[in-house]
Amino acid sequence: MTPNTDVLNRYLFDGMHARGELVQLHHTFKDIIDGHNYSDGVKALLGELLAATCLLTATLKFEGEIAVQLQGKGPVSYAVINGTHDQIMRGIAKVNEETSATGLENLIGKGTMVITIRPDKGEPYQGVVLLDKPTVAECLAQYFETSDQIPTSLWLFTDIKKETVGGALVQLLPDSGNKEQQMSDYDHLCQLTNTIKPNEIFSLEAQDLLHRLYHAEEVRIFEPQSVSYSCSCSEEKCLNAISQFNPIELKKLIEEQGNVSMTCDYCQTTYAFDESQLSSYLNEIKH
Ligand SMILES: [Zn+2]
Repeated sequence: MTPNTDVLNRYLFDGMHARGELVQLHHTFKDIIDGHNYSDGVKALLGELLAATCLLTATLKFEGEIAVQLQGKGPVSYAVINGTHDQIMRGIAKVNEETSATGLENLIGKGTMVITIRPDKGEPYQGVVLLDKPTVAECLAQYFETSDQIPTSLWLFTDIKKETVGGALVQLLPDSGNKEQQMSDYDHLCQLTNTIKPNEIFSLEAQDLLHRLYHAEEVRIFEPQSVSYSCSCSEEKCLNAISQFNPIELKKLIEEQGNVSMTCDYCQTTYAFDESQLSSYLNEIKH
């Protein structure tokens, strides 16, 4: 049985100063990997990044977007998932050589995880952590430890055959209360969450899994949020990029090909512009 997917659940552990999240995804993941010919290892890596980015965007206290990017010198030079506060996701991996490798270390190698947070209003900020832990989840825990020092744990799951991914998060709330008690509550919730089995996250409805994990706790569950895929590319953004080209080069391209085209790396949509659409840029030659 397949649960209702592409939904993110957020909840509070009342009296424990901690919050949690659970996400189960199928269509969003499929839309991101379809048409790219990724190996299973690369799909799994993108799947983990996707679940992680959903969980992270749900911790935002403002409107904006988060990009979680892996960069390295392995067969995959980068992999990134972008997500907005309203859970609209897209992502891509740049594969330099065909590989059957799996896992963060074999695919990305030595490198960094870059987390960029862009509020709709305000300055963007970036956190960087070295990829010196074996999994995406552990690197992210490291990021939280070094950046805002809020104890946070993530669990990430992928099933490539079923094209489903899932994840859970437990995070202490910033609070000035009894630190020792809070850490003991946090450890307790992490132990419970740590008992999630992959077949549970891929087969149980969220509420059944949450009941299985936390039935002895006081959990306040918020309205579930749906997660979807959409690429933010547009004709306007492409024109904007093309306007940065040298007009003489543009003119040459039009003479050779009849138009100037750009293909979005993420969704592989091609935008083509002919001479009349580019006339305002081409006219700059005269000046
Ligand atoms: Zn696109």
